[in-house]
Amino acid sequence: MITARNVDLSNCDREQIQYPAATLAHGFLVVLAEPELSVVQAGQNAAEYLGLALEKILGKPIALWLDATVVRAMRSHLQHTVAAGPPLYVETATINTRQFDLLVHRCGSNVIAEFEARTSRPPTFAGSLFSRVHVAIAKLQQTRSVQQFLDLAVSEIRDLTGFDRVMAYQFQEDGSGAVLAESVTGGWESFLGLHYPASDIPQPARRLFKLTWLRHQPDISYTPVPIVPASNAFTGQPLDLSYALLRSVSVMYSQYLKNMGTHSSMVMTLLKDGELWGLIACHHHSGPRHVPFEIRAACEFLAHMVSLLLAAKEEQEDFEYRARMQTTQSRMVGILALTDDFVNVLIDRKPNLLDFIDCGGAAVVLQGKPTLTGATPEAEEVAQLVEWLSHQEENIFFTDCLSKLHPAALRYCGVASGMLAIRTGASKNDYILLFRPEYRRTVNWAGDPKKPVDISDDGQRLMPRTSFAIWQETVRLKSRPWKAVELSAARDLRDALVEIDARRADQFRVLYQNLQRTNVELDAFAYVASHDLKEPLRGIHNYSQFLLEDTAGILPSEAANKLETVIRLTRRMDDLLDSLLHYARLGRDGMDLVPCDVQQLVAEVIDTLATRIQEAGVQVRVLGTLPTIEADYTRLGEVFQNLIVNAIKYNDKDMRFVEIGSTETDGERVFFVHDNGIGIAAEHHENIFAIFRRLHPQDKFGGGTGAGLTIVRKILDRHEGRIWVESTPGEGTTFFFTIGTAK
Ligand code: ADP
Repeated sequence: MITARNVDLSNCDREQIQYPAATLAHGFLVVLAEPELSVVQAGQNAAEYLGLALEKILGKPIALWLDATVVRAMRSHLQHTVAAGPPLYVETATINTRQFDLLVHRCGSNVIAEFEARTSRPPTFAGSLFSRVHVAIAKLQQTRSVQQFLDLAVSEIRDLTGFDRVMAYQFQEDGSGAVLAESVTGGWESFLGLHYPASDIPQPARRLFKLTWLRHQPDISYTPVPIVPASNAFTGQPLDLSYALLRSVSVMYSQYLKNMGTHSSMVMTLLKDGELWGLIACHHHSGPRHVPFEIRAACEFLAHMVSLLLAAKEEQEDFEYRARMQTTQSRMVGILALTDDFVNVLIDRKPNLLDFIDCGGAAVVLQGKPTLTGATPEAEEVAQLVEWLSHQEENIFFTDCLSKLHPAALRYCGVASGMLAIRTGASKNDYILLFRPEYRRTVNWAGDPKKPVDISDDGQRLMPRTSFAIWQETVRLKSRPWKAVELSAARDLRDALVEIDARRADQFRVLYQNLQRTNVELDAFAYVASHDLKEPLRGIHNYSQFLLEDTAGILPSEAANKLETVIRLTRRMDDLLDSLLHYARLGRDGMDLVPCDVQQLVAEVIDTLATRIQEAGVQVRVLGTLPTIEADYTRLGEVFQNLIVNAIKYNDKDMRFVEIGSTETDGERVFFVHDNGIGIAAEHHENIFAIFRRLHPQDKFGGGTGAGLTIVRKILDRHEGRIWVESTPGEGTTFFFTIGTAK
């Protein structure tokens, strides 16, 4: 069993601090057996306080040395207490002209009576204590934040007790603690903002904090007073002092306080929802200090009120945070429903991601490309991070120690030890990332952070600054954890974005269906119109022809010329109608996809164009070997033919050439037809694909209907391919295209 006799730093977590077998020295304790209330155990100092030898005390009724009225009062108190619990004040008894505050409580089958010696008269303001506490509570109620609340609480308690230092200390989720508020006088070093590892307050102490709400040690340098006999004579059990005011404290704790330069201490428990939330710790550095019972009672009451109010304050703050996250989210999402400019809404506008959840920086990643705001890793690093994230299953991914999971994050742990990632859609490349800095770099340093601390020495270990340094080591590479409310807000944001996405996809689907229908109708119209127009056109052509022949020699030459123009125009119109018909048919007929040996296909096209090539004096070269791909053989032939014909036509150089080839870019097969011709100005790169769009008069460069490229594009569309052009006017043109179905 670990007790005060064999405790050290390695085992203090198991010290049985409720069985110290000793007491503090500013009073004495006796253990009584009912019904006689005879003394079965006593603190050794009872002898001095009572001026009686221990043998005269042990085994004898308490009434031997305690006034009968006090004994009666004690009995009547005991009638109302059946179980172990915090000591009850009976009254202030006078023994041998000294005054003692008598407090009793039950412990197993025994009664523990504690006599605390009064060192001073009751404080002058004792009578007005109630109204002071009352005023303090009213003021606490009016505070607007948890911080303000704690600041006020510590200063009120310092006012009441006169300690040099009063601190509000909060336990974090990992058991470590932080000084959140402090009131200190006399130029003592401030401990505000310091954090301590969980081991600083061992488990046994935490258990007792929940049992007794206030513990006071008037003089840290006391010599523990042994209890005699050490164990109960009947049960053989050591005495359980869990509730006793005079319980002797752990030597580790005393040493810690001494190292802090403390002579006297008082600690109050702060509970929230029945759980240990924190402590209010009072220290006196100028010497021992005994806080009288009444004031302690007032402080204890105040601590109760602080605990209750604190829960409400924290809830209010939580509520406000939640409301803020919700408002920010709905404002961002509201705008996103109208525009899909993610970066503008989530980063440029106000409120944005930095207002949403407490974080140091954020990134919006679209298609793997990050846009950053606040303190974040470099864009390159974020892109790598997203690459890594895309292998994670979760849509909401969070960590408070990123470098443990993604070692590359070690480089930027200062800004991103914590990360909350929200996958914004089905794509594994679209994310919202929130970053939190390393915690130890953000804590509020009190005093000089460079003050040397030596962690190796056991004595040093029990110093506030050394302890802070130890805590700093334990939170290296870690950020403040993500709270449940934050994760739920992140989930809400994702749900909203996914819904917007789905709604938008729905709208697109309807739009697409409408477009498709319109397209089909247009194709049908073009087909019917061009088909039906050919008939009357043929009539006009034929009758004009007849007229010209029948009136040969009769008609004045001017009229005959006009008739010839009519015939030429009908021919031209017939060509245009043919192109239109052809184009319309492309939309109606199915594609017959088969494996096409493009090498052979191109050879055939060149063969067909042989005369034309020869006449134009053009060199047509095929670069490398062309692959075999899945396509409609005839249509693909048409694509090459159109492009090669254009490449031959639009060339005014002496040495003309056309090159045909294919490359592979990012795993995609790209074909090209290149010429050293007249080129196309950049502003026309798109509109040359519009139907009947020509850049030259009909009689230049061999003419054409202006439908060739439109047809090419349509054929490629139907193959789920793309076409684009690169060109330098005067130097040449290259048409590139892909066939989507290419394998
Ligand atoms: P056209 O029947 O007039 O050739 P296209 O649709 O094939 O019609 O081409 C549209 C226009 O694009 C052409 O009139 C021409 O001005 C331009 N063009 C097409 N290919 C080339 C090329 N290889 N070099 C320069 N201009 C070209």
